Amino acid sequence: MDSEKLLLVVPYRDREEHLSLFVPHMEKWLKAQGIDFNIIISEQSKDGEWFNKGSLINCGFKEADKVYDYVCIHDIDMLPCCKKTCDYSYSASSIHLASRVQQFGYKMPGKNYTGGVIMCPVDIYIKANGFSNLYRGWGKEDIDFGFRIRKAKSKISKRDGKYSSLEHQKQKWHPDKKFDDKMLQSNKQLLKNMISGKHDFRKDGLSNIKYKILNTEIISSKTKKITFDIR
Ligand code: UDP
Ligand code: MN
Repeated sequence: MDSEKLLLVVPYRDREEHLSLFVPHMEKWLKAQGIDFNIIISEQSKDGEWFNKGSLINCGFKEADKVYDYVCIHDIDMLPCCKKTCDYSYSASSIHLASRVQQFGYKMPGKNYTGGVIMCPVDIYIKANGFSNLYRGWGKEDIDFGFRIRKAKSKISKRDGKYSSLEHQKQKWHPDKKFDDKMLQSNKQLLKNMISGKHDFRKDGLSNIKYKILNTEIISSKTKKITFDIR
């Protein structure tokens, strides 16, 4: 039987231990659900730049073959952990899955939360123009993406998703700089402009991403890691 094909994209840098746990766990989980899938670990080069989660997701999406029906954007430190939940099967609407995550006390951290794990059909990802490339370091790019999906006239449904969290140091978003309040304020302003319509999301995202591929590593028959230099 022909089923819809899933592309799972994971933004990544400098979390080797998580990578070695995430990939086998996720492959096993998706195989058990009978899902036809591939995983792209979208790695940012260790180039002294701020981590740019949105751009990495756009890069991974762009480099994938054009055979996928839906895409799931997945944090590397969230592992599906309860068999009755975390259903990755296709839906024609967008689905937020990370509804009960250990690091948030198994509760939603806020009503607009669309982070952690979110899936949408490929045509919706394209209509939303993917993620913004402008956010730096921690925060708000996932909420911005939720608004892009809504502006692309797709509603975001929820599925129950119970996830365990892998531990890590707080805020390793830059190899040697500390995240500062100025940067958080700038991310907040970007989000405000997105919500008010002042920011034209059609000019910022998949449509204008610039990058170079530095390396491709085959991790398994289902998973590869691509290292990007983001411009
Ligand atoms: N991430 C990463 N390396 C970093 C920072 C972030 O790989 O240095 C990726 C990883 O997929 C992670 C996601 O971005 O799960 C979200 O970052 P983080 O876990 O730091 O956010 P928080 O725990 O604050 O939600
Ligand atoms: Mn985390």
